[in-house]
Amino acid sequence: MDCPICGSDDVEILNSKQKSSKKKLMEEYLLKCEDCGHVFKDVISLKKPKPYRLIISEQDKSHRTTIELSPSDELKSGDVLLSELGQIEVTSIEVGDKRVNKAKVEDINTIWANSIEIPARIGFSVDLHGEVDSYKLDLERDFEIAPGDVVKIDKHIVKVHVVKTQERKLTSGFAKAAVITRVYSKPVKFNNYDYDLTKHIIKKTKGKK
Ligand SMILES: [Zn+2]
Repeated sequence: MDCPICGSDDVEILNSKQKSSKKKLMEEYLLKCEDCGHVFKDVISLKKPKPYRLIISEQDKSHRTTIELSPSDELKSGDVLLSELGQIEVTSIEVGDKRVNKAKVEDINTIWANSIEIPARIGFSVDLHGEVDSYKLDLERDFEIAPGDVVKIDKHIVKVHVVKTQERKLTSGFAKAAVITRVYSKPVKFNNYDYDLTKHIIKKTKGKK
């Protein structure tokens, strides 16, 4: 945005407005040269956002999705983006068949990222006839727990009796970890279970009932 009269790049922005066509976003500027006082217009065009392939790893799973980015932008490892699954951090960028740390968005084939959404922290109680083993767990926010689920946790295999959410106590149906405050369970003599929560334990406390 240099002055067309004297060539100075010392310009003041008097006004700007956005225009958009099918493929481009245009920013039209009204500028004033600080050196010679000439007032002129200039237009900067940006390519419109397009969907790019995105693979998000979240704990054991990976999700394939897309994300809308402006082809004119630059992307690098460590950048934080907002995807349909919440906040993600870019770990690697695929351009052609190579993995790079930095690229112009329009050259990108696939973006690899980790989810950095804050997990849901819930309480999980195991009723041991007079004593209670109480756990704090960090779970994916959309992890579902239902009364009746048979669960391995620590050295116990238990059946879920009540799922307490922010609003009610459930004895049927299911709830997502994001809204669960505590799960109440009792040991069962099964060898099989629906899922194992042991690796999600953050803290264990023993207590009397
Ligand atoms: Zn000038």
